[in-house]
Amino acid sequence: MSTQKNITVVGAGLVGSLVSIYLAKRGYKVDVYERRGDMRKANMIAGRSINLALSDRGWRGLEGVGIADEIKKIAIPMYGRAIHMKDGSSTYQAYGKDNQAIYSVSRGGINMRLMDLAEQQPNVTLHFEERCDKLDRKTNELSFFNTSTNKTTDVKSDIVLGSDGAFSAVRTQMQFQSDRFDYQQFYIDAGYKELVIPAGPNGEHLIEKNCLHIWPRGSFMMIALPNMDGSFTCTLFFQMEGKVSFDTIKTKEEVMAFFKQEFPDAVPLMPTLIEDWMTNPTSSLVTVKCKPWVWDEKLL
Ligand SMILES: Cc1cc2nc3c(=O)[nH]c(=O)nc-3n(C[C@H](O)[C@H](O)[C@H](O)COP(=O)(O)OP(=O)(O)OC[C@H]3O[C@@H](n4cnc5c(N)ncnc54)[C@H](O)[C@@H]3O)c2cc1C
Repeated sequence: MSTQKNITVVGAGLVGSLVSIYLAKRGYKVDVYERRGDMRKANMIAGRSINLALSDRGWRGLEGVGIADEIKKIAIPMYGRAIHMKDGSSTYQAYGKDNQAIYSVSRGGINMRLMDLAEQQPNVTLHFEERCDKLDRKTNELSFFNTSTNKTTDVKSDIVLGSDGAFSAVRTQMQFQSDRFDYQQFYIDAGYKELVIPAGPNGEHLIEKNCLHIWPRGSFMMIALPNMDGSFTCTLFFQMEGKVSFDTIKTKEEVMAFFKQEFPDAVPLMPTLIEDWMTNPTSSLVTVKCKPWVWDEKLL
């Protein structure tokens, strides 16, 4: 390994932030370029995958650089799932016999913590509001457009790592600069919308805290994951189009009737249901596949 090599990581999401810590610990000089502003200084955008479930694979990724204990401080164990039936009753299924759990963690919280830990490495620099627009496969030169100053910076790098999400600019550039680059993208029939069960009057969780709550309804479902502030983030995974879908449930009356019919026990716990439904985005779920995803050991 050469300690001199510099690595450019595109995207400071969960992967970019974590991988920069791994690379720094191996002695590389790492520069991370993120399109958005620094989320540690701005309010998070609500209504887009606020929390996520961390399982064994996620913990191993964090343990590999010794930061699992730091993240555990902001994670809530969920020892089983609570299944909510249409008649309002519920049942419990433990994840294991020995208190095994998956963990609910704030997406923004874990991302910000990973950024802090990355910046604590002397050889990692995070750059914000820098959007990758171009990449030259042959020279490993990248162009970043600063969305605040409107200036473009060119960067040359020994290794480029694209961790810029589902609509990756790095991948798009790879696609156009290679013969026989396989690329496939498809949207599944369902999309999702995030809603909320707020905390009780004393900040308490209004349904069992240490559970992943599920309202399974065949072709659609709602889930709820606990947050540290006593609230739950609910996600409705639902058909985008069709007879009963995001497309057909539009008015306040239609939303309320649908929820009363499908999730009767949740309705009294969701005082801002209508407002959240109308305000929060309906987001798509996309699957992307590409091949090859490593080039000449210098672009990934
Ligand atoms: C509804 C939903 C629920 C999910 N639930 C879970 C869960 O419970 N557990 C779990 O483990 N996973 C879950 N996932 C999956 C998880 O979100 C992804 O695996 C993870 O976010 C991928 O991380 P990433 O860093 O590759 O991409 P992202 O998190 O998308 O980060 C990409 C980053 O790159 C930046 N970027 C984009 N374009 C550019 C550019 N041109 N230049 C510079 N920067 C750029 C973006 O601003 C962003 O910060 C869920 C996903 C969804 C959609």
